[in-house]
Amino acid sequence: MNIVLLGPPGAGKGTQAKKIAEYYSLSHISTGDILRKNIHNNTTLGLKVKSYMGNGGLAPDELLIPIIRNRLLKLDCSIGCLLDGYPRTVPQADALQMILTEANRKLDVILNIQVDDEELIRRISGRRTCSSCGATYHIMNKPPKNYEICDTCGGKLYQREDDKPDAIRKRLIVDKTQLLVEYYSKKGLLQTIDGEGSISQIFEDIKKVLKRYD
Ligand code: AMP
Repeated sequence: MNIVLLGPPGAGKGTQAKKIAEYYSLSHISTGDILRKNIHNNTTLGLKVKSYMGNGGLAPDELLIPIIRNRLLKLDCSIGCLLDGYPRTVPQADALQMILTEANRKLDVILNIQVDDEELIRRISGRRTCSSCGATYHIMNKPPKNYEICDTCGGKLYQREDDKPDAIRKRLIVDKTQLLVEYYSKKGLLQTIDGEGSISQIFEDIKKVLKRYD
């Protein structure tokens, strides 16, 4: 299966993506994680995208498309992949289609996780991320045992620059999810998931939908 997870920032794409990839043995590709790793390692790409990410904007398509192309053409993706955070724009979606056609593959389904704006802001502003392994927590919904320390690896937890209030507002404004919803719904690939239940309930709903494609 080749799956795209769509949804505004804070919809829970990252959390569900990890569960889906593990359950169905798919390669999990998160463009946000790839970009953050590049920023952390001070690569040329990292330096280019840092300012866009820090203030909640989108990085340019011409940087993202080659990243996703290189990643999708790697061997581990031939068993199936789960895209989390890509595409974010219609040109990215067009490029994705071309890359998959080149690899003789196709998208099976787009899962659109829906959550309303107020809930999104509450979720994003409470999110804390591990600076070492990237694990995420929420100060109310999924608190770490120790306020500043990652339960998994002991790394220091921090609040992403783009999870701070001004950046959240900007991210919700620049979010193009609705355009992509229309794009994929015209292609008959879209399935909508209610993203306001518990993590396990949402995952059960996703499994029910994916049964039709497995
Ligand atoms: P995420 O972890 O998916 O929320 O992404 C965090 C940030 O990385 C976004 O707010 C963007 O600045 C950048 N980013 C991630 N994926 C993309 C993409 N496909 N296109 C443009 N920018 C992206």
